[in-house]
Amino acid sequence: MFATRFLDLPPLLSASGSVALPGSKSISNRVLLLAGLSAGTTAIHDLLDSDDTRVMLTALRTLGCVIEEKGAALLVTGLDGRLDVKEAQLFLGNAGTAMRPLTAALAVLAATQGGRFELSGVPRMHERPIGDLVDALRQLGCDIACLQTEGYPPLRLGSGAAPTGHGLRTQAPIRVRGDVSSQFLTALLLALPLVAERHAVTVEVEGELISKPYVEITLNLLERFGIVVQRDGWRAFTVPQGSAYRSPGSIHVEGDASSASYFIALGAIAANDAPVRIEGIGTDSIQGDIRFIQAARAMGADVLSGPGWLEVKRGRWPLQAITLDCNHIPDAAMTLAVMALYAQGTTRLTNIASWRVKETDRIAAMANELRKLGAAVDEGPDWIAVTAPVRWTAAAIHTYDDHRIAMCFSLAAFNALAGAAPPAPVRILDPQCVGKTFPDYFERLFSVVRTDTAHVPVITVDGPTASGKGTLASALAKALGYHFLDSGAVYRATALTALRLGVGTDDEPRLAELAAGLDLHFSADQITLRGLDVTEALRLEEVGAMASKISAWPAVRAALRELQLSFRQVPGLVADGRDMGTVIFPGADLKVFLTASAATRAERRHKQLISKGISANIDSLRADLEARDARDQNRSIAPLKPAEDATLLDNSALTVQASVDAVLEVWQRRRPFASPSA
Ligand code: C5P
Repeated sequence: MFATRFLDLPPLLSASGSVALPGSKSISNRVLLLAGLSAGTTAIHDLLDSDDTRVMLTALRTLGCVIEEKGAALLVTGLDGRLDVKEAQLFLGNAGTAMRPLTAALAVLAATQGGRFELSGVPRMHERPIGDLVDALRQLGCDIACLQTEGYPPLRLGSGAAPTGHGLRTQAPIRVRGDVSSQFLTALLLALPLVAERHAVTVEVEGELISKPYVEITLNLLERFGIVVQRDGWRAFTVPQGSAYRSPGSIHVEGDASSASYFIALGAIAANDAPVRIEGIGTDSIQGDIRFIQAARAMGADVLSGPGWLEVKRGRWPLQAITLDCNHIPDAAMTLAVMALYAQGTTRLTNIASWRVKETDRIAAMANELRKLGAAVDEGPDWIAVTAPVRWTAAAIHTYDDHRIAMCFSLAAFNALAGAAPPAPVRILDPQCVGKTFPDYFERLFSVVRTDTAHVPVITVDGPTASGKGTLASALAKALGYHFLDSGAVYRATALTALRLGVGTDDEPRLAELAAGLDLHFSADQITLRGLDVTEALRLEEVGAMASKISAWPAVRAALRELQLSFRQVPGLVADGRDMGTVIFPGADLKVFLTASAATRAERRHKQLISKGISANIDSLRADLEARDARDQNRSIAPLKPAEDATLLDNSALTVQASVDAVLEVWQRRRPFASPSA
């Protein structure tokens, strides 16, 4: 996942290939709670691993559930409806799917068995209403205090006193409002089987129930755990007398339909040749957001589907604007607002008042950010209307700690397909907020998108041995979420291969052959050569010395060129070496030439070796560095020198962080975003 403050997406041009979806958030958190309340152990397969499920897991552990990993499954041993832990403070982040059902379940358990629980979250969670659920639970006889503002978390459930023995008022129907969030009804339905031993319990919905498909998921999963709810349409739901949770033993979590919406839209916008295939969800889905497919089709998507898969291609182009009541697909509908950027006409999404009480006020947020790109947007209390930009602008998209904003705005990077000239990059601020439901969203997106290499930004960092360019370049790559090329490693790998095979420094043709045939792979913290970890071996002094010699051969340099160029991939590259800015990436967007005095470099190398337990002499290290500098500078091909347009940085007196900050500042000034981090 990206640890960056912002992620710049270059202009993108097409998409195809296969993506596997993470598990559904709604199903994952319901299944976790159900398994946690049931008798017996449930093996959960394909559970979503994200911020929201992590808070639920932590809460269940705190409450005494035993949770263990077994292979790819998670085993949850439930409480069988009995409170082991009677007092706890639970922090639930910004996860509505944890806050609401845990409130209901713990309120009724505290009332019947005694207990005291405090439930809190991030500041935004304390602005998300829960009063209707609290009212419904108070009707039942639960003791609930709102600790800051009436009707909002944080909450205290139960007083800690022993139960009175009167039990809860389960005989009269409980009334709950259905028009703010369907999660209140879901929460009650998940909790009531805990108190339906002696009487059936009925919930009546007041007002129009919104987001009905989410209640369908609840009913479906309750059934899997042994509770068959009787219903009178969408008006009343009865949990039969004698209900008790029973683990189904094993359960599979299907892919997240809301997460699928980004890839369905991606196919509709950018799969103009082969399709985007989505694995993990299909026609057999129990999630309401699967109906996003119909809306996407209406806008022009060409969708094929089967059990557990979808294939999406561009159909009609440009897309066609639609007017749609989105009450049944509140989350996925945000993706339609971004598809509207590629549509002819004005797209009008109505009946979306619930957007205002989600992770952020999503109507206001979408309107602001779509306007930044150049779209014309109108909004009302429960609707939004979007018309595609006439002129696109490169924009820094605020994400409001809302995963869906980050994900759906990534699709704006295809603006070249809508005629944006020049194509505009899109900056996503705080991209790590996708961790709420889809931690590796961007990595998966990048694995199926393509663009012209010329659109992919490159930063080069060249400089002499031990100038700290590797450290600087890898820190820059991390800060920007870009790929990283340590070009010295490709010369070192050639040198290591030559040393192992006994090939001499003068055998240019044979060395070039070895270079061309390198089976070299880089991962986050490992370099492998022919499948073997050579991360340490490449750093050996004798390998460096050999690399320095063989890198003077033109045929060796030529043989390694393609390999180095292949690192230039979406979203961008930071490359360090000697000739990155002069020979390999002469058109780089930013070229840094890093220097430090020979004395400083010798000292750094000395420290490095000592810290690894290798003894070294500082004077001979310095002599060696200077000899390498001379060889690199004087060779006839690709000599070490700053590119004409390079930014020179002497870091002799700078900390690593100060060097990184200095380069990032220069980079920010070159980016086209009006306000770099606004
Ligand atoms: O940077 P590093 O010390 O890992 O590089 C090993 C050797 O490879 C250097 O001494 C240099 O001569 C050579 N090299 C090069 N061109 C590059 C990177 C490294 O000639 N782009």
